[in-house]
Amino acid sequence: MSRFLNGYYEQLKPYVPGEIPKESGLLKLNTNESPYPPSPGVLECFNRDAASLQRLYGDPANRELNRVLAGHYGLSADEVMATGGSDETLELAFMAYSQDGVAFADETYGFYGVFADLHHLDVKLIPLAEDFSIHPEDYYDLGREIILANPNAPTGLYLKREAIEEILRHNRDHVVVVDEAYVDFGNESMIPLIHQYENLLVIQTFSKSRSLAGARIGFAAGNSELIRDLERLRNSRNPYDISRQSQLAGVKAVEESSYYRRNCEKIIAAREWTVRELNQLGFHGPDSHTNFIFVSHEHLTGQEVYEGLRARGILVRHFDRERIKNYNRISIGTMEDMERLVAAMKEIVTNG
Ligand code: PMP
Repeated sequence: MSRFLNGYYEQLKPYVPGEIPKESGLLKLNTNESPYPPSPGVLECFNRDAASLQRLYGDPANRELNRVLAGHYGLSADEVMATGGSDETLELAFMAYSQDGVAFADETYGFYGVFADLHHLDVKLIPLAEDFSIHPEDYYDLGREIILANPNAPTGLYLKREAIEEILRHNRDHVVVVDEAYVDFGNESMIPLIHQYENLLVIQTFSKSRSLAGARIGFAAGNSELIRDLERLRNSRNPYDISRQSQLAGVKAVEESSYYRRNCEKIIAAREWTVRELNQLGFHGPDSHTNFIFVSHEHLTGQEVYEGLRARGILVRHFDRERIKNYNRISIGTMEDMERLVAAMKEIVTNG
């Protein structure tokens, strides 16, 4: 830290992203990206003449992307707002509605705590149950903004619509943000509820099911007043948040949704197969509704499994936090990736 840094930021503990390895040939199962390439139309956008695309600013209102997203989800264009990755959308939502503080689970997406620190917010952590499940009643009448990852990360557990509706009804005077980064892996989105609950804001990303983590696209869906709030903040910060190429790619990705739906089905099938195989090897974890699994072993520590996989060229995510240190979060890849993972796990369990 230099002596010039604003003291306001002295205590900040920045988010630690999953490792981006330099070695080639490593199987990367640590940041929940899709193992499948973007769809053909999207790839074409990236191959277009860079000179003409990059010289000019993009549309700061992301109008075309918002329009196709609205069409896809049955909303009007003023009920969606695309941003540069959903991390940006989340931060805007933290900034906009946290005047009475924020509440989120004690084990959830790590960036929530970082945003809360960055903006000096009062945080109420809601402990997950022993089995990592979320009890909706713990979120009733909290008198503050609520952030819920649904499905949750890194546990992969999912709250059904009725439970989310109860939380919305019990917090009518505060915004409830539902972060649906992993919703496309077999779950129901809350987006259709935005007309029913004026306090509901849903956030999604193109980084997981839509194979575009590198393009940085996320979006919020909510009633037009909430969206106007977020736009106010976005335009006070970074109006050109999505590059022109990413804007075009995002539009194509929505238009080619059936390609991504098929990939999600393949990922779900690979997940179910992997869970069955790993159970037989003594690994267990919560029931995943996402493109990752969160598993611990009967006899091996989380660190031993992490290192065993790393030594065999497979990178997964291990967290040091006391409650979850015996677990590893493993992204689901292709069937071939998962066969390689299971073979490595067999060796680790047999040889240590
Ligand atoms: N929410 C959750 C729950 C996540 O796991 C992630 C990705 N790590 C994000 C949001 C952010 O995704 P992105 O910024 O790539 O859209």
